[in-house]
Amino acid sequence: METRITLGVSACLLGENVRYDGGCKLDPYLVHTLARFARFVPLCPETESGMGVPREPVDLWAGGGGEVRAVGRESLADYSRSWREWAKAKAGELEGEDLWGMILKSRSPSCGPQVEIREGCGQKRRTGMGFFAEEVARSLPLVVVESEESLYDPGRRENFIVRLFAMRRLKKLVEGEKTRGRLVDFHTCEKLLLMAHSAEGYRSLGRTVARPTKEPLDRVYEAYRDGFIGALSHRSTRAKNCNVLLHAAGYFKRNLDVIEKGELGEAIEGYRAGLLPLTVPMTLLNHWNRRWRHPWLGAQSYLNPHPLELRLKCLA
Ligand code: SF4
Repeated sequence: METRITLGVSACLLGENVRYDGGCKLDPYLVHTLARFARFVPLCPETESGMGVPREPVDLWAGGGGEVRAVGRESLADYSRSWREWAKAKAGELEGEDLWGMILKSRSPSCGPQVEIREGCGQKRRTGMGFFAEEVARSLPLVVVESEESLYDPGRRENFIVRLFAMRRLKKLVEGEKTRGRLVDFHTCEKLLLMAHSAEGYRSLGRTVARPTKEPLDRVYEAYRDGFIGALSHRSTRAKNCNVLLHAAGYFKRNLDVIEKGELGEAIEGYRAGLLPLTVPMTLLNHWNRRWRHPWLGAQSYLNPHPLELRLKCLA
């Protein structure tokens, strides 16, 4: 039976009237499409940490020591302490929810994965993270976070879906029995996926896997976990995916005739040109691998998405 993915979501994106102006920011993709496949855990850092509706807007300011503060635009009240305390407690509570990812409201000083932070007298601005998004990144590193705005872009949406499932596999690895063999198997099966995100990340993880056996396994697993998260944070692009698809197609060079090779090549080039979704060359590669059975290729997570992941990718 398929497991539904569980996502933490900013409550205003689900239509709850909790914004500072008393309104919401209902997101049709979440509510009408993603909701068919996911269980949502709504959260609103500002109201749940004690602020009312409506309320004054809040801006983030960087102080002299670099510490960021949440300051009310009208009252100049400092909400930093209550926001931080709430975020820490909420992140702890969410560990029990077994979240796969979070979709947080863009540009919100509390929720936003990317927000504007004012510096000096306010003329200078830099980009940082909202208070809650920052706590999630620190306390729940295997939870994939995106803003609803970034999911409007089909490429970023697909990346989000891929990372949700990859982090689930990583979680299973790091929470299971720690052996060198499991780590090597995992790294082998994730090769094409890692290459599609970061070839350098893949090579660096290979060096982690090959560390001397006297190094404690806990340390090796921790380094692998951090490196894997880092590698997947690089966006996969059409060009990187095409390299990986061509690499996979190379496995069939002795199996396919000229017409079959031509069809596979056209599917890859059609994807490169933006005329076909990634699922088309992937489906073709899987079709040929069912026929010719290359075990290494058949084990690649890149070519074997979970059925639910495949359906979500088709929507991406
Ligand atoms: Fe609440 Fe976050 Fe939406 Fe603001 S952006 S209303 S804090 S859920």
